[in-house]
Amino acid sequence: MLGNDPVLLTPGPLTTSPATREAMLRDWGSWDAAFNRITQSVCADLVQIVHGENDYVCVPLQGSGTFSVEAAIGTLVPRNGCVLVPDNGAYCARIVRILERMGIAHVALPLGEDEPATAAAVEDALNRDSRITHVALVHLETSAGLLNPLDAIAAVCKRHGKRLIVDAMSSFGALPIDLRDGGIDAVISASGKCLEGVPGMGFVIVRRTLLEECAGRSPSLALDLHDQYVYLRKTAQWRFTPPTHVVAALRHALDRFAAEGGQPARGARYTRNCAVLIEGMRDLGFEPFLRPDVQAPVIVTFHAPRDPAWRFADFYAAVREAGYILYPGKLTQVETFRVGCIGAIDANEMHNAVAAIGRTVAALGLHVR
Ligand SMILES: *Cc1c(COP(=O)(O)O)cnc(C)c1O
Repeated sequence: MLGNDPVLLTPGPLTTSPATREAMLRDWGSWDAAFNRITQSVCADLVQIVHGENDYVCVPLQGSGTFSVEAAIGTLVPRNGCVLVPDNGAYCARIVRILERMGIAHVALPLGEDEPATAAAVEDALNRDSRITHVALVHLETSAGLLNPLDAIAAVCKRHGKRLIVDAMSSFGALPIDLRDGGIDAVISASGKCLEGVPGMGFVIVRRTLLEECAGRSPSLALDLHDQYVYLRKTAQWRFTPPTHVVAALRHALDRFAAEGGQPARGARYTRNCAVLIEGMRDLGFEPFLRPDVQAPVIVTFHAPRDPAWRFADFYAAVREAGYILYPGKLTQVETFRVGCIGAIDANEMHNAVAAIGRTVAALGLHVR
């Protein structure tokens, strides 16, 4: 089914279905009504996945996921705002860098890379610093694969009257996100993660009344979500050249998503993939970095073997030769590597991946335990 291409065990780009790739075998004009209808239906579906039909709009944006994170912050946070950033990994740190670049005041809430943010810690930070106007939360910290408790933190933000912007890049579609409780103001994700599209566009699902207050606020023209929204609404077209093939592939990927059974079914498949992966890797002697109760079923960080002969680059190359692409670690303190369990792959493929890793360990003569 996948031809001779290696299977991507990475958090995006990931392995897509052949039919999703085939959806790109046409050219669309950006002015064409047929393409504009695709954009509209994609946006409508994305809002529905997180139950935002009544009060939220989806603004798509060209570029990788970070472009949409930067666009959301630049458009939704006023210059004199102050953003609390619970920090347990590289994607949280990236939000802090974006805020620094924009000269927006912020307060980091430092946490361990294996330590979820808690509602109590967020509440404590809000009580300590009355300057804080917004909270920027990474739902699933892809650096370690760590899940942060979104609903509990959203409830705190709502109670304190703070705006909550959620980087749900690697959780959207796989884990439940529900905008109906009203504590979340904006959710950001992208085409090429758990929706199993190809990379190239992000999107921000944002409370309509909030976005409408944000005219002229973005310091960037290309990343101005309000401008993109107004133009799309007026003309049905993207401002600036749309990633037409990416949008068409996402349309197809969303059809597959619905046919599979939506978020609950996708989450269940990834959960099975993750269980097979962790169990198989443990049998080989590899230890997961995270405790099971904070491990999200999207990407798993494993401790590197203590064997002095361990070189990730050699291991990567040998596993690639066996048909699977692994991912380097992204933690600051410990030597790790990561294996994704998302994409158009099932538990059977995960069994095969673990078997290939086992053969590679043996062939390289690595001592894992
Ligand atoms: C993938 C990802 C992003 C976006 O990264 P890009 O390299 O711009 O695609 C942002 N946040 C999280 C949590 C992610 O997993």
